[in-house]
Amino acid sequence: MNIADWLAASAHLRPRAPALLTGTHVDADYATFAQRAAAVGAHLSRHYNVQPGDRVGLFMTNCTQYLECLYGIWWIGAVAVPINAKLHGREAAWICEDSGAKLIVLSDDIMDVWSEAVAPGALPTLSVDSDAYLRLRAGEGAAAPLARETDDLAWLFYTSGTTGRPKGVMLSHGNLMAMSLCYFADVDQVTPQDAILYAAPISHGAGLYNFPHVRMGARHVVPESGGFDADEVLALGKQLQNVAMFAAPTMVRRLVDAAKKHGENGDGLRTIVYGGGPMYLADIRDAIATMGQRFVQIYGQGESPMTITALSREWHSRTDDPRYLERLASVGPAQSVISVRITDADGNPLPAGETGEVEAKGAAVMLGYWNNPKATADTLKNGWLRTGDVGRLDADGFLTLSDRSKDVIISGGTNIYPREVEEALLTHADVREVSAIGVPHPEWGEIVVACVVLEDGATANDQVLDAHCLASIARFKRPKRYVYLPSLPKNNYGKVLKTSLREMMAKQAS
Ligand code: AMP
Repeated sequence: MNIADWLAASAHLRPRAPALLTGTHVDADYATFAQRAAAVGAHLSRHYNVQPGDRVGLFMTNCTQYLECLYGIWWIGAVAVPINAKLHGREAAWICEDSGAKLIVLSDDIMDVWSEAVAPGALPTLSVDSDAYLRLRAGEGAAAPLARETDDLAWLFYTSGTTGRPKGVMLSHGNLMAMSLCYFADVDQVTPQDAILYAAPISHGAGLYNFPHVRMGARHVVPESGGFDADEVLALGKQLQNVAMFAAPTMVRRLVDAAKKHGENGDGLRTIVYGGGPMYLADIRDAIATMGQRFVQIYGQGESPMTITALSREWHSRTDDPRYLERLASVGPAQSVISVRITDADGNPLPAGETGEVEAKGAAVMLGYWNNPKATADTLKNGWLRTGDVGRLDADGFLTLSDRSKDVIISGGTNIYPREVEEALLTHADVREVSAIGVPHPEWGEIVVACVVLEDGATANDQVLDAHCLASIARFKRPKRYVYLPSLPKNNYGKVLKTSLREMMAKQAS
């Protein structure tokens, strides 16, 4: 099956249902959405000779044309290569080169980023904001998407890469369908009355959630700002109702702050799916207290997109469960098509309760890395995906993550999981954000350094924070040093760059 068959089906079943919206304005119904996708596909074949299996780069900020182009690419059996719109033009060019893209589709607001980095004519370009695009999408195309096999490549997903060059994760039509079926089973139910709001980049997790919503004929909403503005999201929730969205933990925090400021609770935002980075217990409790039960957590990675475990709405609301806080601090049990296990350094499975590397196997797991058999062999072993994350399973199958394996701090021969230190410090009212890292030390091997961002006007100091840690974590885990920063370095998806923090500390030491 071709994942674009879902668009064709919705166009037949609900031709007049609103499909693509910018803010509250309807740009296209389902019949028009499918017609445009078919027309874009036909244009790509005719003008750029895009054949089934060929790659097409997409370098654009969020807009409804993004979805037209994605489905246009799949309509003709080609492969989409969505590129994070915040990347440098040279990085985007590298991804096009690595993937062998035949052309790049751009939005005008980042055309300069591209043309400053790439010689004119080096790669054909198509602007989705041009008159030519408006004309071509009104044309005709094939009546139905080209037939594809489950294992055929659909999406080359370049990892965000907090270190080194990104790798192209090969996601098949079958992977994307498995991910979407898990959305229905483990994350949320979707009806045609619902809306999915793209407040995070369509090139990444938020965009992957288009599929279950196309399948059910729901609305796809790109905020007018094109990105994340907490006030705008709260307003759209009220105007559109039944809104679901994917949000990184930093976005949830900003939404909660905005809701508090306006004395609101997120009315109309039915489901906020969060994930992509650690959500601290203190933060999710605050979010629930402010906005109520609207939250679902997912844990996944590009290599098994959005689909390793999920902590459902039900588990967020079971406050009378004796293990409620433990559940809330976990990322939930495995999603429906995935098995999860924990392994030791030699790859042997560990029993419940023991900490090791998280591995996942199942229908959502990637085919491998594009043109990179070595990385594929290192990461996929007998179908098991080595996630590089450290965690433990409890006897009921709930997974609790500690850290990325490379972030674990080894001090005096003992493993210290930075997340535990961060969770402890975040329960102090003066601490807004914190990241704990390991810094080389002659005696201990490494020591824990806490990089802290204090709330405005806060007065906490080393002594106060030290006493606070001592009240909740073992003495040997507490930071040996505190560094106060105005903000934490983050990548384009809001993930804290521990590598930059470590470099910063190394520079200070030298
Ligand atoms: P990416 O491939 O860029 O989506 O990054 C995936 C990584 O983000 C995972 O391997 C985890 O380290 C982290 N991650 C994803 N979801 C969660 C979550 N719910 N809690 C903690 N970390 C997460």
